[in-house]
Amino acid sequence: MATRIPSPPKVGMVSLGCPKALVDSERILTKLRSDGYGLSPDFDGADVVLVNTCGFLDSAKEESLEAIGEAIAENGRVIVTGCMGKEADVIRARFPDVLAVSGPQQYEEVVGAVHEAAPMPPSPYVDLVPEAGLKLTPRHYSYVKISEGCNHRCAFCIIPSIRGDLVSRRPDAVLREAEKLVAAGTKELLIISQDTSAYGLDLKHASWPWKDGDVRAHMTDLARELGKLGTAENPVWVRLHYVYPYPHVDQVIPLMAEGLITPYLDIPFQHASPRILKAMKRPANEAKVLERIAKWRAICPDLTIRSTFIAGFPGETEEDFQYLLDWLDEAQLDRVGAFRFEPVEGAQANALPDAVPDEVTEERYARLMEKCAAISAAKLQAKIGSMRKVIIDVADGEGGATGRSQADAPEIDGEVHLRDAHGLEAGDMVDVRIEDADEHDLFGVPEMPA
Ligand code: SF4
Repeated sequence: MATRIPSPPKVGMVSLGCPKALVDSERILTKLRSDGYGLSPDFDGADVVLVNTCGFLDSAKEESLEAIGEAIAENGRVIVTGCMGKEADVIRARFPDVLAVSGPQQYEEVVGAVHEAAPMPPSPYVDLVPEAGLKLTPRHYSYVKISEGCNHRCAFCIIPSIRGDLVSRRPDAVLREAEKLVAAGTKELLIISQDTSAYGLDLKHASWPWKDGDVRAHMTDLARELGKLGTAENPVWVRLHYVYPYPHVDQVIPLMAEGLITPYLDIPFQHASPRILKAMKRPANEAKVLERIAKWRAICPDLTIRSTFIAGFPGETEEDFQYLLDWLDEAQLDRVGAFRFEPVEGAQANALPDAVPDEVTEERYARLMEKCAAISAAKLQAKIGSMRKVIIDVADGEGGATGRSQADAPEIDGEVHLRDAHGLEAGDMVDVRIEDADEHDLFGVPEMPA
């Protein structure tokens, strides 16, 4: 018997306004078409109708409202976007039944709203990509980008001039993507951005409907909802990267203590000397970080903190550098990466006086590495004899396997090397008794349930 390919939903479009709005309409339709949607030339044949509005003049607004009214009357399932989308209250007051409203250039929101209103029936015969999209990482872990750009202007960084200011994704879009990844086999979600703690600032931390309630565009709320994607039978690790220690970071520590998200924070401190941090123009540069780290550890003793530091930033004196080494002794960070300062074309730091000579930078870098290796070795030694949950990255099929504990992010941190790991596969999570450690890695044996 022939396999019946389900026909795709059809989208109708009413496009009003200027050429820029027309280009937006084309872009939205191109994306929907590439997602497999059909297009409908009339209201009758459409499963959902998009109205791309204009809000330039009062007369254009009235024309937009009339077009929405006509689409509601003729079809009933209407999504509004474009310039008048900025006046969502006016639209919703007059047409409470519209399915979604978004502003100009919010392509992701519009396309997401169409997917929600008229989902594509999955078909393994026609889908070019799996439900969760194409991935360059192994199936069991996935990076999820929650925002693009950055509002800071750190002196050594050119990212804001390339990527612009912070633009956060809607929390429901992030969660929908994460949910698909989990359904497709992801066991570990790696949350990335330039500045994860600032997530949602540009959206004024507004809320969007999610499941039976709402979710706020805020790091804490997003982390909590991401944590709920795991279950006792299918645990999911949620790992936060590029977190700056703004005051509200304190709120995610209890979520880690509860086991809802992974007790791991990647905080790129870059230095500790207040003078150098000021010259670097670092965000959340405050004196009480050590006190806060101590409080976080009191709430969540298993917390792993990873960071990176720069040696040889312009103006760094031996005193500043020694301050950093002493600070590290006190902070006892679990994982530390070190870099030598390099002038990047276009960075403000290049114009700063008192460049540190290369040989001095090199010598400080070596001392920094030595300090970090000693702290890491001592921290790992203390884990010998303990039980750790480990996710398997590679199994050789002959009893050897390599994985990571919750303290280890892929690619950047250490690994856990297993013996007698027969029958394990990539993505399995197992309890491991730690038997040995070196400067960066742990060694252990899985304890399988009897
Ligand atoms: S280094 Fe500073 S400016 Fe660059 S992306 Fe990070 S926070 Fe933003």
